Amino acid sequence: MESHKLLIGGAWVDAVNGEREDVTSPFNGDIVGDVAVARPADAERAITAALSGFDVWRRTPAHVRFAILTKAAALADERAEEMAQIMSRENGKSLVEARGEAGRSGDIIRLSAFEGSQLYGDSLPLDANKGTGLEKLGFTIHQPVGVVVAISPFNYPALLVMHKVAPALAAGNAVVLKPARATPLTALALAKCFVDAGLPDGVLNVVTGGGSDLGDALVRDTRVRKISFTGSTRVGEHIASIAGIKKLSLELGASGPVIVLDDADIDAATTSIALGGYINAGQVCISAQRIIVHEKIVDDFLSALTPKVQAIRVGDPLAEGTAVGSMISRAEADRVTASIRAAVTSGARLVTGGEQDGSIIQPAIVADVDPFSPFAQDELFGPAVAVSAARNLEHAIDLANSTAYGLGAGVFTNNMSNSIRAIREIESGVVHINWTQLWRADLMPYGGFKASGIGKEGPRSAIAEMTEIKTVILHGTPWTHS
Ligand code: NAD
Repeated sequence: MESHKLLIGGAWVDAVNGEREDVTSPFNGDIVGDVAVARPADAERAITAALSGFDVWRRTPAHVRFAILTKAAALADERAEEMAQIMSRENGKSLVEARGEAGRSGDIIRLSAFEGSQLYGDSLPLDANKGTGLEKLGFTIHQPVGVVVAISPFNYPALLVMHKVAPALAAGNAVVLKPARATPLTALALAKCFVDAGLPDGVLNVVTGGGSDLGDALVRDTRVRKISFTGSTRVGEHIASIAGIKKLSLELGASGPVIVLDDADIDAATTSIALGGYINAGQVCISAQRIIVHEKIVDDFLSALTPKVQAIRVGDPLAEGTAVGSMISRAEADRVTASIRAAVTSGARLVTGGEQDGSIIQPAIVADVDPFSPFAQDELFGPAVAVSAARNLEHAIDLANSTAYGLGAGVFTNNMSNSIRAIREIESGVVHINWTQLWRADLMPYGGFKASGIGKEGPRSAIAEMTEIKTVILHGTPWTHS
């Protein structure tokens, strides 16, 4: 078991008030490590340190930033197994999932480092402006915004930290990272890769602790120029209400729809849904939650899906062979069980799964779900799918668009016209044809519509949102050609 401090100004330090807390396994309650609990006084110190770090980093040439980041990426690769073990213990996700996630960290840093070396501007055709001659030159340059506050959720403790920290640093910003309270250890292990790679002091600071007082202090501070937040829509709305005038990226919740039309390959659709609805115990913003199936094929669809869901091996996250581990806490598992029960009480049918043992829930299929009931409309964030019937494509798209959210969607069809119509009409940040929304290449633009958020991640998009465009005009004097 390791004890961890806060990373502030390049040093590992205690919280001002000396407070500490244990990080425990959601699977069996074992203590995995302990961390300092930061409060607003620590937020103040971290932001001050980040301003000093920014002073150095903004003046560091891009090729030097690139070299430091690629060294950090190599360290993240070397330490991937160690990080996967930590992640599986603190989060409860299976080791196989944790390995997949940890293995992407180095790649995200490298992608970001490259994009950070590509900050091209535009030249402006000023002489097209009436009355302006050829004596002026105009162009744009891209500059880092300054101090970025990165706030991340528990469900992907490495991936979602890296999608903020790596682009921010690559663009020349300084960062104060506040990881989720339940999963600080993976974030601290990643931060160590940057420190060991030679990142100047203060450029990356990490404060561990709860959301409310610490989070509010970070979000309200007027010296912070950008908040990059991933988490629930509830907290995202709160952040938007107190942030003041600063750039804001919000990656929020969802109730992801998957449409299965009567011309779809049912075997392929059910194989994909048996992954997309249950990976990470369904605790994924792009989880396949609402399965909207053409009414003609509902029975065939359920017959094909059920054995695939029953075959998912759930259990001890660290045991080899476990596909899906525990949920993040007993309380979250209780919440999901209560949601399934409420759906069944109001007329839905539990086809399989749903048994709870502590923080583990057996993967469930709930059929005949009223698409306007809370079980479909609200984010479930657990290992169950809600199956509802649709009369035709138009009806299916209407149902897909019927929630407050719009992050990812999947459509299964073998008809190109149906695909094109769905792509154009589904209100969501990402649409997949013949796969569920639970798929991500780290380079792609990624972010939601409606209550699912504001802005896009993916290194190129994130860097665009973490830089300012400065327009420069050089005023020469008119000349005559002799
Ligand atoms: P959460 O909103 O409870 O917490 C997210 C982070 O916000 C944590 O670090 C938390 O400590 C912090 N926080 C809480 N109150 C705060 C405050 N007042 N000020 C500042 N920070 C505060 O979310 P969670 O339970 O950790 O994660 C699950 C949620 O995240 C789900 O809704 C899921 O859909 C969403 N999510 C979205 C995406 C996406 O890309 N859209 C990705 C992953 C998770």
